[in-house]
Amino acid sequence: MASFESKTIDIGARLRPPADAERRASRIPATVDVAVVGAGIIGLSIGWRLAARGLSVAVFDRAEAGTGTTLASTGMLAAAAEHEAGGDDLLALALDSQARWHPYREALEADSGMKIDYRGEGTMLVALARDEVERLRFRFEIQKRANLDARWLGGVEARALEPGLRGPVAAGIFCSSDHQVDPRLVSAALKRAFLARGGLLFENVEVVSIDREAGRARGIVCAAGACRATTTIVATGVWSGETLAPLGIDIPIRPLKGQALALKTSRQTGNLTRVVWTEQIHMSPKSDGRLIVGATMEDTGFNAAITVGGALALLEGVHRALPSSEEMEIEAIWSGYRPTSDDDAPILGETGVPGLLLATGHHRNGILLAPATAAALEELVVNGAMSGSASRFGLARFAKRPAHAGVAT
Ligand SMILES: Cc1cc2nc3c(=O)[nH]c(=O)nc-3n(C[C@H](O)[C@H](O)[C@H](O)COP(=O)(O)OP(=O)(O)OC[C@H]3O[C@@H](n4cnc5c(N)ncnc54)[C@H](O)[C@@H]3O)c2cc1C
Repeated sequence: MASFESKTIDIGARLRPPADAERRASRIPATVDVAVVGAGIIGLSIGWRLAARGLSVAVFDRAEAGTGTTLASTGMLAAAAEHEAGGDDLLALALDSQARWHPYREALEADSGMKIDYRGEGTMLVALARDEVERLRFRFEIQKRANLDARWLGGVEARALEPGLRGPVAAGIFCSSDHQVDPRLVSAALKRAFLARGGLLFENVEVVSIDREAGRARGIVCAAGACRATTTIVATGVWSGETLAPLGIDIPIRPLKGQALALKTSRQTGNLTRVVWTEQIHMSPKSDGRLIVGATMEDTGFNAAITVGGALALLEGVHRALPSSEEMEIEAIWSGYRPTSDDDAPILGETGVPGLLLATGHHRNGILLAPATAAALEELVVNGAMSGSASRFGLARFAKRPAHAGVAT
């Protein structure tokens, strides 16, 4: 029987990235090559790659780096599992980025001297009941049509891969290329790698405006002063609209809230080996013994409340899939905002204002898409143009169709 000791769970508690004793810049430089606004995974990845190219780069965040949406995320690199009908352009970018994750990880671990809990056991999607099998089969057909790395599993085979699942499992899909990382460790490693490459990081420094001169962006302004830059990049995620609105740039980004929780596993409860999705939830085992359970999808604006409905959906979902969850401790529960554009795909590149670039709107896939985004912005800054799959995700695409004419991806 479970024992009920008195214990308070800090509802809304944020699991912080590990503390970092690295040196930080104290004085805002008068001039840099590139100023990046936002130190989530997107801004830091871009800053790190550009600093590695030898450019002088300053990254500014009004909070601690990595504590925006990036901290709320699960860390799945799930190009195949996330693929839905109609999302072919996004799939090309996702597959490109998934392939880039290997060299990105190697370079990041080398530059930072840290491990990021990259786990390559793949991802399994399961139908827990017979009436879920047809819907899973439909998803599999879409994956096969897109030539994705996905294998159909009978129920016995699926359960053999994850014996902790409540039996009998009806069917499964195994996506062996869909791996995962720990976003908290990625943020901490990015900070170190960026600093190691000579980047300047300003945390708890709010950018109050983008400086303009003769119609061109000239850097950023914050309370402590201004930093002139040849190129300014806005990577403020779900807050990108507010960063750009004063310049008259309207971008179709809205917050799509997700609630998630971390369970603490033990030797008695065991943990999963790989990421497992059911129809209700995904469960992502981390090497430190946590099991992340996510995530709700709520179109409720900027409202971070942890709700009974959200918590119940997650707890019911995990309890239904994993009997041993009954004995797992709830370590934390939180919410975050996916930066979601009108077509659920990122917005990369030019803004229409010379010298001002944008990398936002990564929705459910910012961790997966970070390497391809950083490579695209690096190419744009260094060569003056983006090529490949990233070039299809410019802001200009929204001018071509009526507002809110989103496609499902
Ligand atoms: C519950 C949940 C689960 C998710 N799971 C996954 C997953 O498994 N895999 C995946 O690929 N993606 C996942 N995502 C999506 C992913 O987390 C996001 O797409 C990604 O983190 C976006 O990164 P970002 O750097 O654009 O934004 P953020 O991490 O939010 O960074 C933006 C930064 O800008 C700063 N900022 C804002 N305004 C200013 C200003 N004026 N001045 C200075 N700084 C400013 C903020 O403080 C913030 O740190 C998940 C999201 C949620 C909510």
